[in-house]
Amino acid sequence: MNYNFQQFEEKLSQLQLTLTDRMKEQFAVYYDMLCEWNKIMNLTTIIQFDEVVEKHFVDSLALGAYLELKDHCTMIDIGTGAGFPGIPLKIVYPELNVLLVDSLNKRVRFLEEVIQKLYLTGITSVHGRAEELAHKNEYREQYDLCVSRAVAHLASLSEYCLPFVKMGGTFTAYKSADISEEIEQSKKAIQILGGKINRIEKFQLPETEYGRSFVIIDKVRHISKKYPRKSGTPGRCPLQ
Ligand code: SAM
Repeated sequence: MNYNFQQFEEKLSQLQLTLTDRMKEQFAVYYDMLCEWNKIMNLTTIIQFDEVVEKHFVDSLALGAYLELKDHCTMIDIGTGAGFPGIPLKIVYPELNVLLVDSLNKRVRFLEEVIQKLYLTGITSVHGRAEELAHKNEYREQYDLCVSRAVAHLASLSEYCLPFVKMGGTFTAYKSADISEEIEQSKKAIQILGGKINRIEKFQLPETEYGRSFVIIDKVRHISKKYPRKSGTPGRCPLQ
């Protein structure tokens, strides 16, 4: 199908990002697949093209305006669901090396098909819980950047995410505008998990009233092998 990319391009231009024809084609195929697979599984409640652009694609890509996404940087997306933010970031930053993680196998099957249909290389998906994968040598402290959107409270999320980050790397949580209380509640957990809050970037999604925050956390120390605790524990009993 032909979609009108004008709004998408205008919003991205405010983030100093541009789309090539190939990228537009990839976003169109991705959007078609989201609509198609959404009929048989729960991928997104938002389905109208302009809304998907605004709340999924632009929101995912906004990170590029606040963090330098270096060539060949390794990135892991924890709890990626239908691929947010990992797939839009991979489309616009094709040099990124990406691993998409989700605990729901049918979503991972969807992601495998997206990767194939969009002819993406340097990106894979894995089915599993962060708490278990983070104890495997092939994943632990292997990534320059860990991102995660709409998965858990920052204290639990830090326990899912920081173990994957290399020393000197970064974990960035996509959060809503009002984040101060959550930050207060998570400071201890972040410290125990070898992280240090670098900064919090607050912004408005272009041409909307939706406020968002990026919580940018540096990995400054190695983490005790006992973290993350066993599956379900970080969510039920966040470190504090
Ligand atoms: N990040 C996507 C987005 O922003 O649209 C999906 C958000 S969805 C609300 C949360 C996703 O996280 C679900 O797909 C769920 O299966 C996954 N998830 C929750 N806990 C997880 C864990 N411990 N390890 C891996 N994936 C997890």
